[in-house]
Amino acid sequence: MVIQENMHSPGHYNVSANKIAINKPSLVTYLHEFCHYKRIHLKQKNTEHIARGWSISLFYLATPKLCLKSIKSGKIIHQNRIQQTGDKVK
Ligand SMILES: [Zn+2]
Repeated sequence: MVIQENMHSPGHYNVSANKIAINKPSLVTYLHEFCHYKRIHLKQKNTEHIARGWSISLFYLATPKLCLKSIKSGKIIHQNRIQQTGDKVK
């Protein structure tokens, strides 16, 4: 089983191989896929919405200025907010 990301996803978690694959080095992508890994192995609810929110929140807690800079410059696609409201991060 592979966690199905969208076709533009920079990474994925392969459950059966227990491997995270990252197409382009990215801390947020790694955290996102690690969230899938952690939640599957702890038998917790596992959704894209949760993985996106958890990874970006953790990045923000660690380095808020860099996180906001990354969002503003478009390096982090803030899909949950954009999909829900149509807003763009200002
Ligand atoms: Zn995901």
